[in-house]
Amino acid sequence: MIDCEGQERLYQILARPCLPRPACPLCGSLLALKHATDEQTIRDLPCHGKQVRITVNRIRYRCKTCRKTWFEILPEGDEHRSATSRLVRYVQQQSLFRPFVALAQEVGLDEKSVRTILRLTPFDGSCSSSVLRLGS
Ligand SMILES: [Zn+2]
Repeated sequence: MIDCEGQERLYQILARPCLPRPACPLCGSLLALKHATDEQTIRDLPCHGKQVRITVNRIRYRCKTCRKTWFEILPEGDEHRSATSRLVRYVQQQSLFRPFVALAQEVGLDEKSVRTILRLTPFDGSCSSSVLRLGS
């Protein structure tokens, strides 16, 4: 973490993944160069009743051997949802008890994103089949 700025309803966190320079995913060469950086915003679990937004400067690498470029992988980030995996788990659990709209407001996602999270990661139903779903 580099910086954390507390706003009235939002924590804005600036982060850099501390990962070693990766090997090329295509040819396995270790001769990777920093090619570019790209800023990405990820939602995280709400904290003290505030939304949490993490801004990460991801590095794009270029392989000196085969010239492939790729983004470094974020350990806790989810490629498709712009949310950390613990936030995804939180949304899954809370969606059983609360309306989607209230949940979306709390975590700072829109209702559509909440629905997408739930659709992409269905529950196995083993412990929640008797719970009535609200807000659907
Ligand atoms: Zn390569």
